[in-house]
Amino acid sequence: MTPNQCPDLEVLFTELEAGEGSALDHAATCALCSAVLEDHRQLEKDLYRLADPLPPPTLVANVMARVATEPTPLRRELWAGIPILVASLGVGLGLLITNDQALSQLGAALAALVMDGKGLLQGLASGANALWSTAAGPVAAILIILLIVSLSGLKRLVGDGPNPSQA
Ligand SMILES: [Zn+2]
Repeated sequence: MTPNQCPDLEVLFTELEAGEGSALDHAATCALCSAVLEDHRQLEKDLYRLADPLPPPTLVANVMARVATEPTPLRRELWAGIPILVASLGVGLGLLITNDQALSQLGAALAALVMDGKGLLQGLASGANALWSTAAGPVAAILIILLIVSLSGLKRLVGDGPNPSQA
């Protein structure tokens, strides 16, 4: 090989991997072959950069396996919880309505509105607003306590696995 004759690219890259060789020695002194080697280096770097963010090939299998072992479908828990929640809220409203102070305040508000000659629907809405504004603290406390009680009960129900004969 004469200094003016560039080596075959295949030979050059083979020697690049090996780390030594006459073609590589030539490339060190040849602008053309140096450029080819530099291009190759850049291309290799870009390929690694492209390959890096790719997820591992087992990712989909792992996710599917985790989904398959998920114990309880969320929808079933919701359907079991909604009646309990509704019943709890009903009890809360019942307690509120049977509360003398709140009821009398609601009645007073309604009476005042009827005396003002406003419509029944408007009166009911304003009465509810008055009730909330005068007894918001107790109402919120009752609702929150009932919510916590029903949620903990639901959790126990789902966790233990209910026995129909014990229900
Ligand atoms: Zn060359």
